[in-house]
Amino acid sequence: MSDTTQARDVMNKLVSLCKRRGFIFQSSEVYGGINGFWDYGPYGVTLRRAVERLWWQFMVEDREDVVGLDSTVICHPEVWRASGHLDQFSDQMTDCRVCKRRFRLDQLEADGVCPHCGTRDSLTEPREFNLMMKTFVGPVFDEEHAAYLRAETCQPIFVDFHLVRIAARGKLPFGIAQVGKAFRNEINPRFFTFRSREFSQMEMEFFCHESEAMQWYEYWRDQRWRFYTELLGFSEDSLRIQHHEKLAHYAKAALDIEFSFPFGWGEIEGVHHRGTWDLSRHEEFSGKEMKFFDPVRNERYFPTVVETSCGLDRICLALLCRGYAEDYAATKKEGKDQELRVVLRLPAAVAPVQTAILPLSRKLAEPARQLHQRLRKTFRTEYDEGGSIGKRYRRQDEIGTPYCVTVDFQTLEDGAVTVRDRDAMTQDRISMDQVRSFLLEKVPPR
Ligand code: ATP
Repeated sequence: MSDTTQARDVMNKLVSLCKRRGFIFQSSEVYGGINGFWDYGPYGVTLRRAVERLWWQFMVEDREDVVGLDSTVICHPEVWRASGHLDQFSDQMTDCRVCKRRFRLDQLEADGVCPHCGTRDSLTEPREFNLMMKTFVGPVFDEEHAAYLRAETCQPIFVDFHLVRIAARGKLPFGIAQVGKAFRNEINPRFFTFRSREFSQMEMEFFCHESEAMQWYEYWRDQRWRFYTELLGFSEDSLRIQHHEKLAHYAKAALDIEFSFPFGWGEIEGVHHRGTWDLSRHEEFSGKEMKFFDPVRNERYFPTVVETSCGLDRICLALLCRGYAEDYAATKKEGKDQELRVVLRLPAAVAPVQTAILPLSRKLAEPARQLHQRLRKTFRTEYDEGGSIGKRYRRQDEIGTPYCVTVDFQTLEDGAVTVRDRDAMTQDRISMDQVRSFLLEKVPPR
């Protein structure tokens, strides 16, 4: 199998697992779906929330110099004029005259050849295509009432800078973080959720004095690398840093953190030195003072901004891609001693189910349910008593449950249960009252 076919094969299997097990599926599927929009099912939502919570703890709650914000999706349209989005937030696109498909110019594989139907010289002259999604506010649908869904979560942070700073008694340097939906009318949504038209961003804008900005840029680059390698357990060789060659005129430095997806390297996060561009533009367009008087330096200035900006959906997709594996496990099925096992090796910190309680028989429901009640206070747990134990293990492997606890008839006599490790495939016999502390050594509390 060629690398591309293999990559496509892995992605197809992952997409199908995500649908079958209720992680992610197409939005409005009964109507044939809508391109670039995805719904998260029960396990997908839990995974997403766990990643978001980890980010929020790491970026806001564990620190004294970053506070949160939750702004609206629709802002005053001038926000997007000031930020440059209405004039410049566009991709170059081209249409194929033969198959009528539309492509982003920078995503063509060969010059002048349609990537879909392969026709030569069928592509139109490139045109600018603005990615902002437009709507109308109020009962009149004309240009005066036009508004836009935010294309990034950071602009409202700049607009609210002073209100948040005063409320949080923030002295510089300090940061404002926000998690929320962003919308882009992407020309070519693709690679599952990687390029969607509606997605969630987790962004943090750090405001500091210009003289310290490069130090903060390097600091945040290292922090964000730590987040992926230490908290989410990505191996160093599955990640890389790409420095931008072309910088915006106001920026001093910018880099992307990329993950090695089955379809190639793809950006999951950007760390950007944004200079004083955003605040100075909002001062110019709103007519309101956006500078800050620094009593320590006795100086009035526009703070310089260092930004960390990542896509929650892309991080979840990276976790799913990295976690997907097929191996062989022992089976009691007739005529076989091994069978293919599909397993999602999700880190325990973000696995939708951290531990599953599986009684071998319905007759063991009482002690098993009691254990479930106890463990669910600490971990994300699931109780499952239906079907053969083999089937139940397979299901838990496919949703990425790191530990299964089996209650059997012996439990009634010795008060012990079996804890099965998803990755090591070891089975430990542990006393019921020790299970919580045994798991706590391996699984962070929910
Ligand atoms: P790309 O070059 O892939 O279009 P970008 O450089 O435009 O991305 P940014 O504007 O820096 O992306 O957005 C920050 C983060 O938001 C990205 O690193 C990515 O994780 C996420 N993101 C951006 N566009 C999308 C999208 N269409 N679907 C899902 N996530 C996205």
